Amino acid sequence: MIQAQGVAFAYAGGQVLRFHDVAVEQGGTVLLRGPSGSGKSTWLALAAGLLTPTAGVLQVADQDVAMLSRSARDAWRARTVGFLPQKLHLSEALTVADNLALAFFAAGLPVDNTAIAQGLAALGVGDLATRKPVHLSGGQAQRVALARALLLRPRVVLADEPTASLDDDACATALQRLQRSAQACGATLVVATHDARVLQALPQAQVLAFDATAREVTV
Ligand code: ADP
Ligand code: MG
Repeated sequence: MIQAQGVAFAYAGGQVLRFHDVAVEQGGTVLLRGPSGSGKSTWLALAAGLLTPTAGVLQVADQDVAMLSRSARDAWRARTVGFLPQKLHLSEALTVADNLALAFFAAGLPVDNTAIAQGLAALGVGDLATRKPVHLSGGQAQRVALARALLLRPRVVLADEPTASLDDDACATALQRLQRSAQACGATLVVATHDARVLQALPQAQVLAFDATAREVTV
């Protein structure tokens, strides 16, 4: 479950971004919709505990992340949040399987190679385990990144512009895959997007609008 009340954030020297309130039940889907620069990626960083709200309360998976110490927050994030960033952040130096192993290291858990193989297979990329990311197509790389995000069965999956470079068919398929995968582990899914096609592909999603009213200039 995710609950945001009165959340605002200001980058150093920047404007205050004020966000609409939202409540999403566990396992639900929410779309963060709005134009470029309206604060969607910032909201995801707040939800992941990478940034701390300057005002308001943001609870993610029943945790007010701002209440955690820095190290507790890192541990919480590694175990609770599956993050599919816009730039996938796969390490080029590592194989696909070793990129997934990083999720276990980050959480301080022993590497479970069976889970890695199963996670890749579930997304149809089981045969790519020994490849380096440079030898993957864009779509394959996104599936690998999704497998990594889901590996520890997170309570929340945060996806930033997951359809940015996809054509219409690939867009619908990727969103269905994303929602099915999140549902399979009972995770709440948050998709940040300025892509109108996403709303059509996920008609039952709750929409959190990001627009000019979400932004105000500091005085
Ligand atoms: P979106 O994801 O909707 O495009 P962002 O959350 O990236 O929006 O950005 C919201 C606002 O915050 C923009 O005005 C952007 O320029 C600003 N911003 C984003 N990241 C930073 C940063 N690291 N430092 C300062 N300002 C930032
Ligand atoms: Mg963004």
